[in-house]
Amino acid sequence: MQAIVLSRRPWRDHDEVITLFTDELGKIEALARGSKKIISKNSPSLEPPSLCQVSLIPAKENWLLTTAEAVTSFSNIRQNLEKALVAARSCAVIEKILPPAEPDSELFNNFKDWLIFLESATLGLTSLYPAFILKLVGHSGFRPNLYACAECAEDKLPKLNLYFSVSSGGLLCEACATGSVLSGQPPQPIFKISTDVVKALRLYLVGSWDVISRLKLSEENLKQITAVIKNFFEFHFAQKINIFI
Ligand SMILES: [Zn+2]
Repeated sequence: MQAIVLSRRPWRDHDEVITLFTDELGKIEALARGSKKIISKNSPSLEPPSLCQVSLIPAKENWLLTTAEAVTSFSNIRQNLEKALVAARSCAVIEKILPPAEPDSELFNNFKDWLIFLESATLGLTSLYPAFILKLVGHSGFRPNLYACAECAEDKLPKLNLYFSVSSGGLLCEACATGSVLSGQPPQPIFKISTDVVKALRLYLVGSWDVISRLKLSEENLKQITAVIKNFFEFHFAQKINIFI
């Protein structure tokens, strides 16, 4: 089966535990035995974020890795510091939020596409990574409402002065954002965002990497978008893991 290597760590004297995101089994830990030369023979293919073809056999508590052949080891990602950092953060986030042993082939394919895109991408990585995080949060069942007020469902939103509420799960109309309809207590934190940021967030959720990478954002808009996505992620996963570079 296919697997993406998320991380590897030494285990006892000669073995390693490899965390894999597989298409068929979801996230699993597999023991790679040094004594069987699995590690030395397959070492480059076991380096995150390699995409490999693996054979596994069930062991006592987890899985035993018997073979791992790299489909691609993403050499461009490895040789470029910015790409390598983005890929490492992506693997760390996936490893952290994925429940063990729950297959999710849609997410597996999305993650694979992201790494393949990263491998050939030439620019715009800083804006692409927040998009990866937003897609991930959306896929996990917390898709933000970007077309109507997330509190009162009003869909005639102002052209300017738009608000995004992390806890409400999307945009807010002016009345909800200023607290005039919610017993004076607007849901915090609230971000004041521009129309361009709303358009970008919509595109981030549904757009292909090719389209997203061609989007031009001002420094200020990129700052807003990063703050919104970072807070939205942390709110839903209650993990202040350092997801941004
Ligand atoms: Zn409202």
